[in-house]
Amino acid sequence: MIRFPRFSFWCFLALLPGIALSQKLSDADAIERMRSEVGFLASDELEGREAGTPGERKAAEFIAAEFARLGLKPKGNSGSYLQEFTFVADPVNGPGDHLQIGRRTFKPGEEFYPLSFSANGVARGTIYKVLYGISAPELSYDDYGDADLKGRIAAMSVGSPDGIHPHSKYLAHHDLRGRAEEAIKRGAVGVLFFNDDPNAENPERRLSAKMSPVSVPVVFLDSDAYQEMLMDNNPCVITADIVREERTAYNVVGLLDNGKNTSTVVGAHFDHLGWGDDGSLHRGDPAIHYGADDNASGTSVMMQLARDLVAMDTAKASNHLFIAFSGEEKGLYGSNYWTKNATVPLDELNYMVNLDMVGRLDSVGSIGINGVGTSPSWSKVDSISAGNLVVKTTLSGIGSSDHTSFYLKDVPAIHFFTGTHADYHKPGDTWEKVNYEGMLRVTRFIEELIIDLDGSGRLPFNRTEESDSTSTPRFKVTLGVVPDYMYSGKGMRIDGVTEGKPAANAGLKEGDVVVRMGAIEVVDMMAYMKGLGQYEKGDKAPVVVLRDGKEMEVEVTF
Ligand SMILES: [Zn+2]
Repeated sequence: MIRFPRFSFWCFLALLPGIALSQKLSDADAIERMRSEVGFLASDELEGREAGTPGERKAAEFIAAEFARLGLKPKGNSGSYLQEFTFVADPVNGPGDHLQIGRRTFKPGEEFYPLSFSANGVARGTIYKVLYGISAPELSYDDYGDADLKGRIAAMSVGSPDGIHPHSKYLAHHDLRGRAEEAIKRGAVGVLFFNDDPNAENPERRLSAKMSPVSVPVVFLDSDAYQEMLMDNNPCVITADIVREERTAYNVVGLLDNGKNTSTVVGAHFDHLGWGDDGSLHRGDPAIHYGADDNASGTSVMMQLARDLVAMDTAKASNHLFIAFSGEEKGLYGSNYWTKNATVPLDELNYMVNLDMVGRLDSVGSIGINGVGTSPSWSKVDSISAGNLVVKTTLSGIGSSDHTSFYLKDVPAIHFFTGTHADYHKPGDTWEKVNYEGMLRVTRFIEELIIDLDGSGRLPFNRTEESDSTSTPRFKVTLGVVPDYMYSGKGMRIDGVTEGKPAANAGLKEGDVVVRMGAIEVVDMMAYMKGLGQYEKGDKAPVVVLRDGKEMEVEVTF
């Protein structure tokens, strides 16, 4: 892989022959500028810009420096361009993980590991084997009988009485968190899983922030030693030391103030996956995920638009707000936060243009524009000639990028996208594969669009009725909601409902927190997915939500 030379951007800046801000860069200069910006953002030095890491911070400072050079008004916190927010980072294993059974100590990470939903702390007790730890009265099946687990450590297999496969009678009981809860209910002070079923997979080793902890330590014994060590009454000590920390990330916000009372928003996320977090599609040793197309490209086009709009006299009919979002890859965190803590009043925003992955324009010049259903005025995109692009549109305001957060606040919002590719969310998304001339064509297209729209007043907002982001093929049904991925309390907080879908039909609305679906207690995102998994189309389900702190039950028809 070609390594981009360090500091090239700064060298390049020094070489720029004093071009005045009031003058638009030539096409060739603009392309060179974007090439060096993407080169810097997608360099080894920034290590993939994962939210909450030093690489992300450097990228934020870099963007802020360009906003300052352009004379944009700082619209972050306390007079700066940076808007700080915190989020719960993916947990990591601490140094204190420990497991001892009888006299034998096991190696953390190799012979055992704590599960995502484990509590921290020490559990001491004697082993009590409970087979699969499944209690299924509806099937007249119970591994517990009248077992008393008070003060004991429950040891159970990850298998099931009829195996682990989608047609198992016990499917509703396969979930390990539920089984641990069952043991805890019966007094267990710790839970130890092992795998004696060659067809069952070991539980996920990677710790996830999307699962909330139960009340006792829970580990998986990844060793054949379970055969001789897991004897009833063998003494056992489990210590789980999972580091769950809050991290700080930064949006970068700058306003080109033309003295008008409405603002156009141009946004792009600048964070990526670092060395490969949850969203990575890379298999193998950790590697820097450069994110040149995703989304150094959109960030650079956003900055190019800022450079141009500062210089263009034709673009003064409204103010222009530029926002580089962080935490997008973790679940639209930055745009979610900004729209709930807006630094320019939301009702002053006319519309939002989101750039996410615009660096791979193909030879035909096809550009995807998502969200055109959010305002009738978006029909304008069909008549734009600048950039010579072939436009393909989709209607829904809800998608997998930051325009969604604005749509949910009733701001017409569209997303520009040059399409996905084999390097998507892999280390191979590098700067030299980016089509810089294509990025300029996208820039020119958006400039013409902005000038056209800003001349014709406020855009009417439309709600769209398209499918939502939670209806992945894994589920036969959808609730029709956008979950708030930033929410870290108990339950699943609804950030928006889709008209005409089950949740909206049952009267659920933004801000409701789903805490139960049928028999499933919804403690976190994972439990919510599990809750959905139990229904078929046409099923009716009692769903309990918290609204303004009070429990309320509705019947949802899928
Ligand atoms: Zn991405």
